[in-house]
Amino acid sequence: MAGTDNHSNPFKIAQKQINDCADVLKLGQSTREVLLRPMREFHVNFPVRMDDGTTKLFQGFRVQYNDAKGPTKGGIRFHPEETVDTVRALAAWMTWKCALLDLPLGGAKGGVICNPKELSQFELERISRSYIKAVGAFIGPDKDIPAPDVYTNPQIMAWMVDEYSSIIGKNQFGVITGKPLSLGGSPGRGDATARGGMYTLREAARRVGLDLSKATMAIQGYGNAGSYAASLAQSMFGIKVVAVCDSKGAVTCENGICADTVDAHKRKTSSVLNCEGTRNMTNDELLALDVDVLVLAALENTITERNVDKVKAKILVELANGPTTPDADEVLYRKGIHVIPDFLCNAGGVTVSYFEMVQNAYMYYWDEAEVHEKLDKRMTKAYHEVVELSEKYKINMRKAAYAVAVARVVEAMKLRGWV
Ligand code: GLU
Repeated sequence: MAGTDNHSNPFKIAQKQINDCADVLKLGQSTREVLLRPMREFHVNFPVRMDDGTTKLFQGFRVQYNDAKGPTKGGIRFHPEETVDTVRALAAWMTWKCALLDLPLGGAKGGVICNPKELSQFELERISRSYIKAVGAFIGPDKDIPAPDVYTNPQIMAWMVDEYSSIIGKNQFGVITGKPLSLGGSPGRGDATARGGMYTLREAARRVGLDLSKATMAIQGYGNAGSYAASLAQSMFGIKVVAVCDSKGAVTCENGICADTVDAHKRKTSSVLNCEGTRNMTNDELLALDVDVLVLAALENTITERNVDKVKAKILVELANGPTTPDADEVLYRKGIHVIPDFLCNAGGVTVSYFEMVQNAYMYYWDEAEVHEKLDKRMTKAYHEVVELSEKYKINMRKAAYAVAVARVVEAMKLRGWV
């Protein structure tokens, strides 16, 4: 995941992207400095009672990157290899993501170093509650609003909202999004990241002249985003998904993989490997497949200098955060591969999170069709803002997305008298 060198350390990558964007926008030194560093961050160590009666100390982070445009927003990850630099990078990317979608929010991210695959439900619950006890004073519905991310889910959000509510002595659903439906969640939040990405894919396919009903797709990563991407790509466009993978390996079938079959197999065996009607292959082979659309839905640093030459897809759909390094980005651009950059492509999750906050504040809930329509409108608008800038200034899609987003954050900073 997070490396220590400049090429794979996500925060070094995020800072390089900011510096490149500051050059494009011709920003002054003081503005650049504010953008390059998190506004504030919390490092917490908290003890948790384990099922065997021992107590273990866990480490967590919450980074509030920039709140010029509003309260900070971003998910919490549970991962054994979590580092503060990964969380810093993800918090920066949340800032640009919210600005790009024109949400009245800043960016933040949280992380706990732990391995959910080795924890019982009770241990997971105690870690979730203890993390909220540790950062509770620094979050709030008009301050900083967490949400799910890698290896966290609506149940974890429910424990967290319950813990926060008992700390402050009243129900406070608006403090966390991605909650279960019966606890103030929004219809449409579950598949929002993948669905938002599919709306941008639809627009990108029109742009590059690709008929999605005849297209093939490979999906790297089969968690929340990747699994929904498989079923939505099939149901929305009739795409043939020919390969999927998770951390244990990949499976392929030239005639198309049925998302329901893989979902059931993964639920049963906790991996996609050996799924009926498919053949196993390596993850590297999946990335190099001759498909029309490649979806990256796992972690950072997937497409790097090392493997970028092998990518043959026409469109790269970045549902993960930070899956492509800057060096690889340049190569993709030269090869004419249309990249839908992460903080545009995966912004559906936070956009519906914002809708969830609005519904919580009004105590009035929309139906799913209304959520889909509003999400489609915002994703489509953001995609076109980025692609038009990219074509006008002949810069890659990521640089264009940065230019749109950072300009909005800088405008807010200027109005507030920060720079
Ligand atoms: N974790 C998601 C993301 O990276 C959603 C964040 C949110 O809903 O606040 O965009």
